[in-house]
Parts: sequence; structure tokens; C-alpha cells
Amino acid sequence: MSRPDILARLAAAHAHRAREDLLRRVRTIERVDGCRIVIDGKALLNFASNDYLGLAQHPALRDALTKAAAHWGVGATAAHLLGGHRQEHAALEEKLARWTGRERALLFSTGYMANLGVLTALLREDDLCVQDKLNHASLIDGARASGAQFKRYRHADAASAQQQLQSLPAAGALLATDGVFSMDGDVAPLAELAALCKTQHATLMIDDAHGIGVLGADGAGCGAALPQEDAPVLMATLGKALGVAGAFVAGSARLIDGLVQFARSYVYTTALPPALATAANAAIDIARDDDERRARLQQRIAQFRDGAAACGIALLPSPSAIQPVLIGTSDAALSASRYLETAGFYVPAIRAPTVPAGSARLRVTLSAAHTEGDVARLLDALALALPRARGAA
Ligand SMILES: *Cc1c(COP(=O)(O)O)cnc(C)c1O
Repeated sequence: MSRPDILARLAAAHAHRAREDLLRRVRTIERVDGCRIVIDGKALLNFASNDYLGLAQHPALRDALTKAAAHWGVGATAAHLLGGHRQEHAALEEKLARWTGRERALLFSTGYMANLGVLTALLREDDLCVQDKLNHASLIDGARASGAQFKRYRHADAASAQQQLQSLPAAGALLATDGVFSMDGDVAPLAELAALCKTQHATLMIDDAHGIGVLGADGAGCGAALPQEDAPVLMATLGKALGVAGAFVAGSARLIDGLVQFARSYVYTTALPPALATAANAAIDIARDDDERRARLQQRIAQFRDGAAACGIALLPSPSAIQPVLIGTSDAALSASRYLETAGFYVPAIRAPTVPAGSARLRVTLSAAHTEGDVARLLDALALALPRARGAA
């Protein structure tokens, strides 16, 4: 009997990626001061971070974290159901529910685990899961792991979603969508999708990882702008605009009660360190109440979009902090990214399979921590980088 050597197969896949010049590389950041970072001894302006509000190094969060660690220690020491759940977690869950206008909320250790847990708890083999083509990998993996029929619809296209739902009219159905799409920055047509779910008797799930803290009048995101009855499953993360780590699902008491029993990535994992819950609690106060900080981010977004239009740089229709510059081939995107790095900017190229082949891009992300001068300098550098990269490719 001869079996394939699975380690050799992995190495061959790696070699193939290397030949295509598609290898991902881990870069070690040596210093961070807001959006100023140091890599390989070189100072760079960071336009790749998800720290949209500049909270990751905020004194109030550092203070909350260190005080809580002094009080509780570091690890939660157990899963939530086995003695890992502290007052800090409970207080954060209550605050998240209130902020998002939901009855209850439940913490998960990461967004990836939240999506995996929700989809596998809700869906069974005879069910249907319908998702936007550009949804985050964790939603796709969750649907696959659930064993339900999995159908994807054209990006942000409610009519295409309707066709997919109607293909199995008698199956239990969940429609899942990113609120803000992580590689494009645009917002899903949430009101239309909610109306569709109502007529199709499907359940709507929104992943608002990139909307929370950024969009909505009190920063509660684009998912929370819909009432609980229209968007019954709302998920978002605490590691992006909120500057901490972890994630939550918010919804009805009966949803949360069910997840506590059946979401395996909640049940069988160590609770988030309680001091991180305290830090996230402090982050919400700022994200919710500091209108000026959110407005500053919106000013940078507007400045970047206006500036790009003025120098002929095409952008996608994104109102969020994610402002990708489409390049095309992987080579051209890499070349542009390398040029920007020599000019002092960290803007990684996003290539297939993270985005569809032929749509490689520079994923520029903006933050309230950027100054007007930072954004102006990036625009100048892009205006030089893009013609070179496209010419070379
Ligand atoms: C980042 C992200 C996740 C995963 O969240 P983590 O807490 O980083 O695991 C899930 N969904 C979307 C849309 C994301 O952008």
C-alpha cells in the first residue's frame, strides 16, 4: 500500500506558490507609534492597519488593561462554562448588547471562531447557506463546516441572492454577508437583503468586523443600524477599530442561549483573558462617545478619495476606512507595494487567492491616527508608484 506523503505535498504547494511569486511573507514590526512603524530598521508610515480609530495604543486602553491584569492576573484559566467567565466578560457582553441595540451578546475569542461557531450551531445538512461571493474566509469556512448546501451570490446583488434562496425553497435558510467587505471596503445592501430575507423566511447574519466603531451615528456599525428583528444575527470583532482582540455575536436571548450550548468554538475554548475584556470595554466608551475621533477618520477618507480622484487614481465605491487601489496583476501590485516601501509607506499588495485573480490591489486603510500630511504624502507617492508598476507589468 502506498499513501501520498502529505508533508511533501504541502511543500510542493509551497514551492508552486513561490514559483508564481505569490508567497506571503511574515514581516516583523520592530516599533509602533500609532501609524508610524519600523520594519527592517526602516521607518514607514503604516497604511495597512485595521486600527481605524487609533485605539490600540490609547492611554485609556493601556490603563484599563494593566489595572485589570493587576487585579485578575492574565489568563482566564478555563472556558466560559467551566469557570473562565468573569465579571469583566459579563460587563462587556452587556455593554455590547446595549450598544448594538440587541437583547444579548456573547463573546468569542476571535472573529474566525465566532463565525465558525454560529454557522455550525445554526445550520444542519438539509439547510441552505447563501453568501456574498466576497464574504470573509471565516464565513465561507463556517458554511462548509456546517455541511449545509452552500451557494454564493454575485457581490452585493440582492436579486442574485434571491435566486439562490429560491433554488431550495423548503430548506431552512441563512443569508450571511460582510457588512463592510474586508478587501473592497464597500457596504452590503443591508436593507434590501433584510427585506429579501423577510419574504424568503430566511435568517440574515451580518459580519460587521470593519463597520463597528467606524460607521453609524454612535459608531455601532452598519449592522446595528438595522433592528434586531431585521438582522437577527449580528457578529463583529474587537480587534479592528476597537483596537483590542476577540469578537462577539449579538441577538435575541434565544439565539445567545442556543449558542452557549451548541457553538463548539465557544464551548471548547479558553475564555478571552479578562483584562482584554476590560480594555475592550474602555474602547467602546471612546468609539461610541468620541464623535470627533470618528469624524477625523471620515475626514481622512474624504481627503484620500478626493485626492485620488484629482490625480486620476481609480478607487472602489467605499465609504469605509478600507480604500483599495486596484492594480490588476499580482506582479504589478507587488511592484507598486515595493516601490511604496522604498518611499516610506507600508501598503501590502493583496493577491489571489485572497482576492479574485486579476484583481490584485493595494489595500490602503486609513485611520484617525493619520494626519492630513500623512494622507497627502501617500497620495503623492501613489501617483508616482502606479504608472511605474503598471508600465513594468
Ligand atoms: C478580520 C475578520 C474576521 C476575523 O476576525 P478575527 O477576530 O481577526 O479572527 C471575520 N470577518 C471579517 C469580515 C473580518 O474582516
